Amino acid sequence: MITTDVLIIGAGAAGLMCAAQAGYRGKSVVVVDMGKKPARKILISGGGRCNFTNQGTTPNHFICQNPHFVKSALSRFTADNFIELVDRHDIDYHHKTLGQLFCDNSAQDIVDVLLTECDWAGVSVNLRTEVLSVRKGPEYGYLVKTSDKDYQCKSLVIASGGLTMPKLGASPIGYNIAKQFGLDVLPTIAALVPFTLHDHDKKRFDGLSGISINCQVTSEDGVSFHENILFTHRGLSGPAILQISSYWQAGQAITINLLPDNALNDIINNWRAQQPQKSLKNLLATLLPKRFIDVLINDGTFAAKVADKAVNQLNHGEINNLASAIHAWQIKPNGTEGYRTAEVTLGGINTDELSSKTFETNKAKGLYFIGEVIDVTGHLGGFNFQWCWSSGWACGQAV
Ligand SMILES: Cc1cc2nc3c(=O)[nH]c(=O)nc-3n(C[C@H](O)[C@H](O)[C@H](O)COP(=O)(O)OP(=O)(O)OC[C@H]3O[C@@H](n4cnc5c(N)ncnc54)[C@H](O)[C@@H]3O)c2cc1C
Repeated sequence: MITTDVLIIGAGAAGLMCAAQAGYRGKSVVVVDMGKKPARKILISGGGRCNFTNQGTTPNHFICQNPHFVKSALSRFTADNFIELVDRHDIDYHHKTLGQLFCDNSAQDIVDVLLTECDWAGVSVNLRTEVLSVRKGPEYGYLVKTSDKDYQCKSLVIASGGLTMPKLGASPIGYNIAKQFGLDVLPTIAALVPFTLHDHDKKRFDGLSGISINCQVTSEDGVSFHENILFTHRGLSGPAILQISSYWQAGQAITINLLPDNALNDIINNWRAQQPQKSLKNLLATLLPKRFIDVLINDGTFAAKVADKAVNQLNHGEINNLASAIHAWQIKPNGTEGYRTAEVTLGGINTDELSSKTFETNKAKGLYFIGEVIDVTGHLGGFNFQWCWSSGWACGQAV
């Protein structure tokens, strides 16, 4: 039996950040993880370059049943604080778009920052160690049985992540421990995930694979994202689709504004003045991929005879119909690709059960939950890692 002040389940972003902070405060800290390597999700994140934070992080970039819950931790350890840490370790990075910061080199740089910090703080990271069960100690703290050694600790931190990417060690252990101690766990579902399509849509989009369009995508609840959508051989993906998947429920449609930057009526008026004899189809092809316009014509979104008309021959009814079709194109996804390819898990430990300052549960003294296992889900763009850094840092000051 190994005795330690703090035992952390999960050597991911949240667990390692928390471990280093607690170690610097003089606590003895052990992190256990069933993986062969630590932080496997960081390694594959951001296409191998890890979008490690977002310079524009605000509480509005997070989905949580209690939207106020995230404010304390995000304000105490900010994106700038993480950037300072990365700077101190001399990591090269760049701004890509919309405040997103990526490593120049590789995501391994971020893992190295965390492991170096843990090393300096005297933390032990025990890999290939699966947690099997947890129970309250007879006198104080918790007894944790693993596939390797058994531990007893005063503070137990659950940083075991969500359910995405089972092949990278995702497990429901965090939710199971929460339920065991009487905490409410909100239903979980895959988020930041591509959509699959009904057979008729698969057929009509056949041949569009690889086409990307800058759009504004809106959910039935009125939440919008202005980024690219991407047609794939499996369905619909791209940043705008991943973002809206976090706000989509089975059976709902999404509305796609295919020309979000300008009103089609104005564009057509300009064409009528400047290139009156050109066909609508050819002019539209200057704004949208030709193969995609053919799909819209074939599926009757607008008639072939309208598409072939010279723009100065279009009547007001035709222009208005076309504008509604292009600015409010609707698709009803069949479903999502699920946890296999999703980036995050929506739902999880109900934040009503946790202190927003320390992340300790009010149901069991010394038991803490941080990172993705909690009902906090960031938008795409580095926000999920920032949540891990902020919650891990705050918890590390308290354990
Ligand atoms: C493909 C992909 C790309 C992503 N890209 C980005 C990005 O660029 N930017 C961004 O902000 N977010 C990104 N994310 C989301 C981000 O990776 C997660 O939100 C984040 O890693 C969650 O960290 P965590 O520490 O809470 O949990 P995790 O990183 O999931 O760590 C949990 C750890 O717990 C361990 N564990 C689980 N059960 C047990 C058990 N029973 N015993 C022992 N150990 C256990 C697991 O092995 C795992 O190592 C991406 C996610 C994916 C899947």
